[in-house]
Amino acid sequence: MSKKRIVILGAGYGGLRTLKKLQKIRPDAELMLIDKNDYHCETTALHEVAAGTSNADEICYSLDLVVDRSQTSFIQDVVVCVEPEKRRVLLKNHAPVSYDYLLISLGFEPELFGIQGMEHYGLFISDIPSVTKIRAHIEEQFEKWTEDHRLEHLVIVVGGAGFTSFEFLGELTNRMPALIERYHIDKNLVRIICIEPTPNALPMFHRRLAEYGAGRLSSRGVAFVIGRVASVDEGRIDYRTDDQIQSIQAGTFVWTGGVSGSSVVAASGFNQRRGRVTVNRDLSVQGHSEILIIGDCSAVINPQSGRPYPTTAQIALQQADCAAYNLNAMLHGNPTKPFVYNYKGTVCSLGKNDAVGEVMGRKLKGRPASIMKKVIENRALAKIGGVETMIKKGRFSLIK
Ligand code: FAD
Repeated sequence: MSKKRIVILGAGYGGLRTLKKLQKIRPDAELMLIDKNDYHCETTALHEVAAGTSNADEICYSLDLVVDRSQTSFIQDVVVCVEPEKRRVLLKNHAPVSYDYLLISLGFEPELFGIQGMEHYGLFISDIPSVTKIRAHIEEQFEKWTEDHRLEHLVIVVGGAGFTSFEFLGELTNRMPALIERYHIDKNLVRIICIEPTPNALPMFHRRLAEYGAGRLSSRGVAFVIGRVASVDEGRIDYRTDDQIQSIQAGTFVWTGGVSGSSVVAASGFNQRRGRVTVNRDLSVQGHSEILIIGDCSAVINPQSGRPYPTTAQIALQQADCAAYNLNAMLHGNPTKPFVYNYKGTVCSLGKNDAVGEVMGRKLKGRPASIMKKVIENRALAKIGGVETMIKKGRFSLIK
């Protein structure tokens, strides 16, 4: 009898950690990993590449460091959709792949909310190509300023004042002095503007911490504007405040106002909302117990609030441990276990030596928060890439 096949879609936090755990369990099954890239990206550091304070290779590592070829085959391709009834996955450039058990962990995509012009003129912090584009775009705009001295080239607008926005703004304000020097710009001409519909920036944090974060960014020149982005055009952002439409002329517009799960989830016909499937307690899909969904494509309901937990790398990593256990249990016809989330806290970087967050119930800000952020990032690196990868790629400097 041929071995059963477990297929994992996505080599991000959820998918790669599940594979690592499964390879340790060594189930009597064929393991297969599919991802569009042959590297793992530390998505939580994408904002650094966008701002230009890190290079892409500093936040990525080869899948070869994790994939054990004696147990696992890897296909580099784009997943188009899953056909649950036929138990197969359709790929862009390869023949369909059949599975006995499937794990979907395809991450997130920017949520555009149907805002006019966003798809064309917005820039997004979602993967390596998108953040490389942001870095190049900002530099191109500053270069253009040296040619025509039009001020909009020096205006950068960020839509959204949540976690990703603040992390990006923190790095961007750190990068600015080098850019200003390189292009010989008067620093007073550069404008960095953050637009958010409500006065509640960083809504996941206690107000005192959120105010600290906003205060730190303001002190580095970020202007906060209350308004809802209505449309985006080349060099122009329209936003609504009190029933009035206002405009900002800006060469760069970065949208951080929302994310949804992968569009593959909707294309596969699952019962989903914004690319996320509300999964069963054991992370399986209703009506398809052979399919597990984790990470940003899944919604896990917090029993206390009745609402889904925010999608984070933290929850994806914990789900992965449960998913590996359950996939192995299913393979042997054993009972699966429910996923229980253990929230440990969140730290939002504000750039070099600065951060704000709550860890194990303790509120942190400034350098202690920044050190804690590095500890968290290194831990995630070790959990997936292993200790060697953490030593090579980890963040040990106390001044970056
Ligand atoms: P991902 O880790 O995003 O992996 C998805 C994988 O699927 C990728 O390897 C991708 O290449 C692959 N893929 C996607 N589509 C396809 C396709 N069609 N075909 C083939 N392959 C595909 N969370 C925290 O807990 N703490 C933080 O501090 C934090 N900071 C963040 C900072 C930023 C700037 C951003 C953007 C996010 C941050 N997050 C943070 C959220 C966190 O990154 C995500 O929740 C996490 O990446 C989700 O893990 P995942 O496994 O679902 O997907």
